[in-house]
Amino acid sequence: MKHYKCGFSHCAHADGKVPENEAVKIGTRYWHKDCYEISETIKDIRETYLDKISSSVVVSALNKIINNIVFGKKLENKKLTKAQSNLEAARYLQFCIDYALEHKIPITHAPGLYYLIDNVRVKKAYEKKNELEMQKEMKKQMDVGIESKPVDTTVKPTANFSAGGGNFGFGNILGGMNE
Ligand SMILES: [Zn+2]
Repeated sequence: MKHYKCGFSHCAHADGKVPENEAVKIGTRYWHKDCYEISETIKDIRETYLDKISSSVVVSALNKIINNIVFGKKLENKKLTKAQSNLEAARYLQFCIDYALEHKIPITHAPGLYYLIDNVRVKKAYEKKNELEMQKEMKKQMDVGIESKPVDTTVKPTANFSAGGGNFGFGNILGGMNE
């Protein structure tokens, strides 16, 4: 398998190299998928800011603040790899700006983004959005194989054990270890 140096200047993967089968090719360079998503999300954040918040902002100052938020310590999640944590931070910042625009939370200058990411209302809304997405995802998974029947949300762990024939119970599963 060929490996390439990731084209993203902020790549946070351990050795900065991406295997060919996992890479996104842009021009002549190869990128990690998440690096590419971070880069696109940052572009989107910058364009939204310039289009809808202020076109007179000093772009280099705006870039610096966005980079601080996405790659810095403020939103770093130590439970994730740094690359995953950066991607989460970029997604969150994008959500914050969209939310502020939708709910008319004023962003008077670029450093206001530091306050926005700390805004309790925005944080709660983001948690809620993620919860809803997770529920949707779970429902989707439950729907698979059930076809169009309404989803019964009560859990019946033993209901399907006999489907494969025979008396399939917990005892048999454990006993099966010795066979
Ligand atoms: Zn990368």
